[in-house]
Amino acid sequence: MRFKDFPGAEENKKKLVELVLSGKISHAHLFNSNEGGIALPMALGFASLLNCENPGPEGSCGQCPSCQKMEKFIHPDVHFSFPLTTTKNIKRTDDLKCSEFLEPWREFLRENPFSSFQTWTEKFSEYEKLPTLKNMEIVKREAREIIHAQALSSFEGKFKIFIIWSSENLNESASNTLLKIVEEPTPGTIFIFVSNSLKSHLKTLLSRVQINSFPSLSSSEVAAILRSRFEIESETAEKAGMVSGGSVTEALHISGSPNRVDFERVQEWFRNCYSLDMSKLQSSADEFAGSNGNFQKGMFKVALRALENAIGTLKPDSQPSWNPGLSQFFSDFYKNVGPSKFEIIRKELEEGLYLLDRNIQARLIFLQKSIKLNKILKGKI
Ligand SMILES: [Zn+2]
Repeated sequence: MRFKDFPGAEENKKKLVELVLSGKISHAHLFNSNEGGIALPMALGFASLLNCENPGPEGSCGQCPSCQKMEKFIHPDVHFSFPLTTTKNIKRTDDLKCSEFLEPWREFLRENPFSSFQTWTEKFSEYEKLPTLKNMEIVKREAREIIHAQALSSFEGKFKIFIIWSSENLNESASNTLLKIVEEPTPGTIFIFVSNSLKSHLKTLLSRVQINSFPSLSSSEVAAILRSRFEIESETAEKAGMVSGGSVTEALHISGSPNRVDFERVQEWFRNCYSLDMSKLQSSADEFAGSNGNFQKGMFKVALRALENAIGTLKPDSQPSWNPGLSQFFSDFYKNVGPSKFEIIRKELEEGLYLLDRNIQARLIFLQKSIKLNKILKGKI
């Protein structure tokens, strides 16, 4: 993957290119973004650039043998680490090493490098035919594998690169095992930790890396990725981008769902709550209960986005430009409801998400929240 292959964080890309071209590269980096954002594509682009034979102002060339291997995720000097858990065949955590799971990992990268921890967990569970997975983490054994591999010379003469994905899931003993080597690796070694949550790392690890926090993708950037990489048609891509909160994975779920949630649907829900139209609310609750988890969570998430949009905390290019009337509806809604009730509504929606995660009956959650919204809107709470 190359920097040119996806939009976003243009300033960060420029700085990384300058670093590589000037030869002033530090040996330990942490790339952070929101979930479903660009931290991993940036790490892949940076790794391609580091070992590219003809790097230029836009990053790696895409043509040289090193770039070609990077494109297939098979470069011998690029080592991937990622969370794992014990399987039917590997019952001890101490036997878990990532090099034995490169097949599902490469498939995961090919399908969607903007993916999230949840998507990887699903992929791994499908590959191992395990219905539920617990404690997906990067374990001490993998940290020892890294230490061993970084001590060897590179196969092709340039950098040995260690991409440690979802590094917030390094367990404590793995993190501690890596500390010394991250501070003083064998020359020619570069570590790229990739995360969605800085605060979940050991402070001692964070103090040893150069942190790059990338901005969330805007709606139009998410839409552009959906169109170019996933061949999703324009209007669907734009609508999904709008409610994705900067997550490509989220946008893919939304656009792939036949009965997807969008702002119009949330508008209709709020209207039915206000008028307490029970027959419409009942049928919406039936549809809600019969849909998958992405749809159900989508309803609350998109409603939360609509509220953010109404108070103007969304970026300008995330406004629903395709429907100015809709934008007006939510800002009028905010004016009429007022900040304090608005906050109560926000908490109710967040609680809806929390309850869905705990497998409480979806139909019940939807109806309870609808009635609660009615009470808030009618001033009874
Ligand atoms: Zn190249």
